Amino acid sequence: MTDRPLDFGDRADLEHLRRDFRAWLAGNPLPERGADEPAAVHLHRWHRMLHSGRWVGLDVPESYGGRGLTSLHQVAVSDELGARGAPGVPRIGYLAHVLLEFGSEEQRRRLLPRMLAGDDTWCQGFSEPGAGSDLAGLSTRADRAPEGRYIVNGQKLWTSYAQHSDLCLLLARTGDAASPHASLSAFVLPLDRPGVTVRPLRAANGDDEFCELFLDDVRLTESERIGAEGDGWALAMTTVAYERNALDTGHLPKYGRLVERLRRHAHERRGRLPDGLRSEIGRCVVDYQVLVAHARRRTAERLAGKTAGAESSVDKLLMTRAEQRLYETALKVFPEELHGEGGDVFGDYLYSRAASVYGGTSQIQRNIIAKRLLRLPAADRRD
Ligand SMILES: Cc1cc2nc3c(=O)[nH]c(=O)nc-3n(C[C@H](O)[C@H](O)[C@H](O)COP(=O)(O)OP(=O)(O)OC[C@H]3O[C@@H](n4cnc5c(N)ncnc54)[C@H](O)[C@@H]3O)c2cc1C
Repeated sequence: MTDRPLDFGDRADLEHLRRDFRAWLAGNPLPERGADEPAAVHLHRWHRMLHSGRWVGLDVPESYGGRGLTSLHQVAVSDELGARGAPGVPRIGYLAHVLLEFGSEEQRRRLLPRMLAGDDTWCQGFSEPGAGSDLAGLSTRADRAPEGRYIVNGQKLWTSYAQHSDLCLLLARTGDAASPHASLSAFVLPLDRPGVTVRPLRAANGDDEFCELFLDDVRLTESERIGAEGDGWALAMTTVAYERNALDTGHLPKYGRLVERLRRHAHERRGRLPDGLRSEIGRCVVDYQVLVAHARRRTAERLAGKTAGAESSVDKLLMTRAEQRLYETALKVFPEELHGEGGDVFGDYLYSRAASVYGGTSQIQRNIIAKRLLRLPAADRRD
């Protein structure tokens, strides 16, 4: 089992890139996290270091601060990071794609270089207390005001890392709620704008990743709208399609290392491992191999110019299943790690529980696959 599952070793330019990156990493290791330093701040320092070596935004055109290479190059960098157990580049890849697809030329030139450099950190303000799966039903309004302005009122929920962010990709209703999908628009909201209140929430694992965002008479300008009025739904669906397709996160090598550890354990304990546990480890190995084969195919598709779409729901389901089964099994096999002794398995196990919720729940992914990929008829709702 390779520790670089997305190594397409047959291409010389990729091999050179990997070699250069490994040499850079040898001289620029992940900085140590300060005793009281929030994880997001530590990752932000790492992001800036990677950017100083030009290892962020490899697939973004040079005119917007990237390197003008392909998504395969970006995937190779994440693969190398994952192989070293280092955190990936903060997940800006999907936001960069959305700005490339929907932003005006002026917005791309102004926002992308700062996003890639980590000069501006971003969060995503889609979900609300009454609108998660039913995102099109959201209530936050951006009403037209004189002089090309908007006044925004509403509340967002589960906004990850808003307390450490400068800008928020905000989804709000600009038109008539009777046409829920057609009346949404997207904005880039500076979080220091008067009327914005960010309140962090403490999760069960002790992290304060989530925030509530309160928006009271917040003023935005037309130039802060991304895309045309009414483009919000298409923009949101593009955002989540890239988010659900997690090729460039460096997760695969991380899973691969744990799968290998389980496999070795099963081998060493042959005959002394309960049958149930042995077959669970077998399933983890199969899940992982399926995920790798699938990710390689998806990478090739991306290279051929295919943009992310409804197939990302398949990626998200496969990733969720593999990740949740892997950490559940690992905790049964290495129960000492339940208390965080000798590894991060317990923390990763806790976070894996959220995989079937964030970026759209597993039920919603199945609905998308049924409707948009399999074209199955909608359920009969007469009962
Ligand atoms: C770790 C994490 C990070 C997140 N970060 C962000 C963020 O940065 N920005 C952001 O905007 N949001 C974020 N979210 C929110 C996330 O997108 C929502 O939690 C998710 O979309 C589900 O919405 P909900 O929580 O309102 O659940 P609900 O939509 O209320 O769903 C409750 C249950 O009902 C089921 N359900 C609902 N509708 C259907 C249906 N039509 N068919 C079948 N089942 C259905 C769901 O599957 C779920 O099991 C984050 C969530 C998590 C867990």
